[in-house]
Amino acid sequence: MIKLSNPITYITGVTTTRAALLKQEVGIRSCVDLFHFFPNRYIDKTQFYKINQLHNSNAEVQIVGKITQIRSVKQKQGTRLVATFIDETGSLELVWFKGAKWLKDSLKVNKPYVVYGKLNAYNNSFSIPHPEMELLTDYKKKVQTAMQPMYPSTEALSKSGITNKVIRTLIQNLFIQFDGKFQESFSPTLIKEEQLISKNDAILNIHFPKSQELLAKAQYRLKFEELFFIQLQLIRKKIIRKSKLKGYQFETVGEKFNSFYKNNLPFNLTNAQKRVLKEIRKDVASGVHMNRLLQGDVGSGKTIVALLSMLLALDNGFQAALIAPTEILAAQHYKAIVELLAGININVELLTGSVKVKKRREIHQKLEDGTLHILIGTHALLEDKVIFKNLGIAIIDEQHRFGVAQRSKMWKKNALPPHVLVMTATPIPRTLAMSVYGDLDISVIDELPPGRKEVKTVHRYDSNRLAVFKFLKDEIAKGRQVYIVYPLIQESAAMDYKDLMDGYESISRDFPMPEYQISIVHGKMKPADKEYEMQRFVKGETQIMVATTVIEVGVNVPNASVMVIESSERFGLSQLHQLRGRVGRGADQSYCILLTDFKLSADAKTRLKTMVGTSDGFKIAEVDLKLRGPGNIMGTQQSGVLNLKIADIVKDTAVLTKARNLAIDLLTDDPDLSKPENKLIFNVFSENQKSSGLWSNIS
Ligand code: ADP
Ligand code: MG
Repeated sequence: MIKLSNPITYITGVTTTRAALLKQEVGIRSCVDLFHFFPNRYIDKTQFYKINQLHNSNAEVQIVGKITQIRSVKQKQGTRLVATFIDETGSLELVWFKGAKWLKDSLKVNKPYVVYGKLNAYNNSFSIPHPEMELLTDYKKKVQTAMQPMYPSTEALSKSGITNKVIRTLIQNLFIQFDGKFQESFSPTLIKEEQLISKNDAILNIHFPKSQELLAKAQYRLKFEELFFIQLQLIRKKIIRKSKLKGYQFETVGEKFNSFYKNNLPFNLTNAQKRVLKEIRKDVASGVHMNRLLQGDVGSGKTIVALLSMLLALDNGFQAALIAPTEILAAQHYKAIVELLAGININVELLTGSVKVKKRREIHQKLEDGTLHILIGTHALLEDKVIFKNLGIAIIDEQHRFGVAQRSKMWKKNALPPHVLVMTATPIPRTLAMSVYGDLDISVIDELPPGRKEVKTVHRYDSNRLAVFKFLKDEIAKGRQVYIVYPLIQESAAMDYKDLMDGYESISRDFPMPEYQISIVHGKMKPADKEYEMQRFVKGETQIMVATTVIEVGVNVPNASVMVIESSERFGLSQLHQLRGRVGRGADQSYCILLTDFKLSADAKTRLKTMVGTSDGFKIAEVDLKLRGPGNIMGTQQSGVLNLKIADIVKDTAVLTKARNLAIDLLTDDPDLSKPENKLIFNVFSENQKSSGLWSNIS
């Protein structure tokens, strides 16, 4: 009798060589690992084909017939083994490139075989390379399940003869030798409520499904369980953080907030802005440390939410900081906030790398004695010399540009860490956010301010450039301004830079001075020059801004109504979306023109189609996730969502939501999982805790 913790060498058929390979290639050590080595697809072998029914479809087929002849064919490297295989309707060839000698001895001529494999078609004749072979007599002896499991494999595994069939046999042996039951992880009540099948049935049917229906139930059960325990850990971590980590308490909504709200607010807040503000207010009033992610599409109005949150800090005698990733953006925030605060007695300063030493000293001084209320800036804020008297809230715009370590520098000198609000315009699909940031609080501004017109987006080939330029001239004639953006991708920076300069030259020819004035901004320029060129565009002195993606983040020029993106097939979806967000900020109808070459990859076509089809940042993020997989989305690396055994973070949204809700309900009712009915869950939970330090390093 085998136990789950036994090494797989206990299983009949697992030699030490095979065990070593399985460990090295797919990480299987113990019997339980092998049980949890799930098939990644299934093949319905209830169907048999006749040779004359075959089509050139590349499908995997199953045929009954006989080998009439086997021959070795010499080729450049080694020998190829070819067998002629017939049934009563025709013939085809079975081909092996490896293991020829061994196979030649073991294959039997003129005996009925069941052959299974992927069909190759060549000159109207078919062949099956490396088919699975089984004598019909053996095939009939076996219990036939409706579907055959197909396991993930690696080159080394298949080269060493650990084929799918071998793995299947090993797992069959394991089931026979194990003969026990899997410990259930959910109580009978819960299993009934969630309409799950038992763990035992799930494991059996995931490997050897008795029917399509049972397979679906097995998959659901195992996905649910996997996602549930991840959510349980994340949510529990959040509960612990909230119960332990004290934060400054902003008890009152005072004079500054109220007078700003009454006299200075230039528009009515959207419902989404109001809701988010309530969420923040509740947090900062609670005495618990706030760690909140604010997601809101470009243009959704995050800045005003940031400002109002800072005013809450000020009203309670604290200072506030706002950090942006670039000087341009920091300067813009500074300007906007100073304007918004006109007439209210609040001191605001801007601190960036280009602030002169004298001014810098003055800022340091005023920060320490508390006469400076709000500091806005870049990375420069994170320097050791920058010491706040009492920083109550730190707001970070566009989070992906800052590391965790950098963030914690901000509050080193404080008694308590300040509340943190991280704002991002890169929407993360909800499912992923739940998994990656499951222990943070998330607020979403999912509504744009009223009156915004959707940016009309079109895809044009380079060959239509003249028509595009004509359109730009018409827009400029109406008094509008235009962005023309070039890709700048690190690996080919020099070439991209040349493209930009060539582009600038040709645009200067097509849009000659003095009728047209052009600004240019790129990463190689000094901050002061960049700022100068930006300002010319902001003030309307230039009509065209030629730039690389440095303008991607946050720049606000409401009069700009056209965004032309050169070589747009080279940009990622989220970048395209960010760039498009630079227009459509004023009252005028705005346009985004995606220029490309004729040659486009399938993914590029999908990206362009998505951009033309929707302006919803969350929908775009979903497509992006499907195209690039979760591995490329920030935060996923540490989160473990990439190590899921069976659930798919992109496809299994519904299961995730259910699992998460259950975890929340359960922990709300029983935070320590100490109630008897949660005993089984507690056992699995603490087992998981022991085996993974995985969750400890999420910020
Ligand atoms: P983002 O979320 O991209 O940072 P901003 O805060 O820069 O967006 O806001 C974009 C524009 O929308 C700004 O010009 C801002 O003044 C304006 N805005 C923000 N909220 C509202 C609102 N509730 N009603 C009207 N305009 C708003
Ligand atoms: Mg912004």
